[in-house]
Amino acid sequence: MRGIVWYRRDFRIADHPALSAACERCSEVIPLFVFDEPLLHSHVFGSACVNFMLGCLEDLASSLTDRGLSLQWRRGEPVEEVVRAAREWKVDAIYWNRDYEPSAIERDRAVAQRLAQAGVVVRTFKDHVVFEADEVRGATGEPLQRYSAYRARWWTRWYAATPEVYPIPTTLAKKKAVSVPNSRPLPTAGELGYAPVASWIEPGEQNALKRLRWFVQGPMHSYATNRNLPANDGCSQLSPHFRFGTLSPRKAVRAALNALAKGGRVSRPDVLTWVDELIWREFFQQVLASFPHVAKGPFRKVVIPPSRESGPERDGLFQAWCNGQTGYPIVDAGIRQLNQTGWMHNRVRMVVASFLIKDLRIDWQSGERYFMQHLTDADVAANNGNWQWCASTGTDAMRGYRIFNPALQSKKFDPDGTYIRRYVPELAHVSAKRIHEPHLMTADEQERARCQIGNDYPSPVVDHQHARQEYLNLGKQEVMR
Ligand SMILES: Cc1cc2nc3c(=O)[nH]c(=O)nc-3n(C[C@H](O)[C@H](O)[C@H](O)COP(=O)(O)OP(=O)(O)OC[C@H]3O[C@@H](n4cnc5c(N)ncnc54)[C@H](O)[C@@H]3O)c2cc1C
Repeated sequence: MRGIVWYRRDFRIADHPALSAACERCSEVIPLFVFDEPLLHSHVFGSACVNFMLGCLEDLASSLTDRGLSLQWRRGEPVEEVVRAAREWKVDAIYWNRDYEPSAIERDRAVAQRLAQAGVVVRTFKDHVVFEADEVRGATGEPLQRYSAYRARWWTRWYAATPEVYPIPTTLAKKKAVSVPNSRPLPTAGELGYAPVASWIEPGEQNALKRLRWFVQGPMHSYATNRNLPANDGCSQLSPHFRFGTLSPRKAVRAALNALAKGGRVSRPDVLTWVDELIWREFFQQVLASFPHVAKGPFRKVVIPPSRESGPERDGLFQAWCNGQTGYPIVDAGIRQLNQTGWMHNRVRMVVASFLIKDLRIDWQSGERYFMQHLTDADVAANNGNWQWCASTGTDAMRGYRIFNPALQSKKFDPDGTYIRRYVPELAHVSAKRIHEPHLMTADEQERARCQIGNDYPSPVVDHQHARQEYLNLGKQEVMR
């Protein structure tokens, strides 16, 4: 029997359910990846994401080559390309791991239908999450909207049947190779229409495992406190690996809980706080799978202040935000970190999102799109879920009238301004007292800091207290309408 393993967002060979099943049932296995031409043309994702993906694909191709298989790739409309490959290579079956994004579900349905007509067997598997949406439900089978309820049920499921972690299939070997023409080298970012940028986080399965080991042996021990400090290496930075499946979520949860079981200096609150974040990831995956309308608009219609009207003022403010030139150092540092590295610390993501929505009163979808185009870990479920959380339109969202004060957030989580100085070098010599609100520096202080406000670094584009009050007033007016 001859089968294709269709790789999509699962670029590894260990703990890969579709690959394991294909190796078990097929005597010949062809791994395939399709570059989705319409998606690449749409530029929904940016260079950071595409370069990281290419790095992961290179690594996957090399792991497969080491075992005698060659990763085949095609470029075009995925439904057509997969069906054509199945026909050309005369395969009996095709295996893939499921994806829960609405567009992916639609694509997979179309492929499955066409393959069924051609008599090709389709086998799909759970992989991207520990538990799929219909495995963690409320008492009457309803999808859960509150994270706390979801989390409780998730743990019940985990202890009822702890999911397996599959090893690299022992049957993945040279004898499975099929004599299809050897694959050409993978395309470069430039050939795909994207700027070549060095990945700031090392791509590939081995790097993901190395990073997981580093995190579990070190920073996880103080995660509960340090995860909020953007200047520290307090969190795992594994998100791009979860996004592209170079690391399986089952393996990550197991690694954390095993460290806890071994005892020693690992503390329970730290480990459980980290696993909580992995459960948030699954929570948003199940929100997207259960309520696909969120990908196109708010989960719920709530009364919130209207966004600023379109026009030059709105565009100017949005540009200032996108360029890290708002005059609010923590916001500017966050956006510049994103623009330079393709990643941003979670605490700062919340601050910049709140600032865009509540201080600048710009629609959250503009921020959501910008993040998708710049994040290496750009993921519809996590990005949409978090933006809706910040905009107070989501399932389990931030209270509508909670508005982050950027200066207070900065004083609390970056007290001496180390993070700000790293990404906003024009503030490098500003004192720790003034770094959070440099516009308050006197002329003398500006001279000493070699930073003239309004010249070297912008004055605040809005006054936070004023913007906050305006947001609250507009909210009250909406309620009374
Ligand atoms: C406005 C906004 C947009 C975001 N967009 C994305 C996105 O496109 N892709 C993405 O992966 N994350 C997104 N996040 C969530 C979070 O910021 C990142 O997952 C996290 O910063 C990644 O860093 P880490 O790997 O060090 O996380 P850790 O703190 O080490 O957490 C471990 C893993 O848990 C998951 N996780 C952690 N926090 C969250 C969360 N709030 N929601 C969902 N999953 C979480 C991630 O997979 C992460 O790798 C967004 C958050 C905000 C506020």
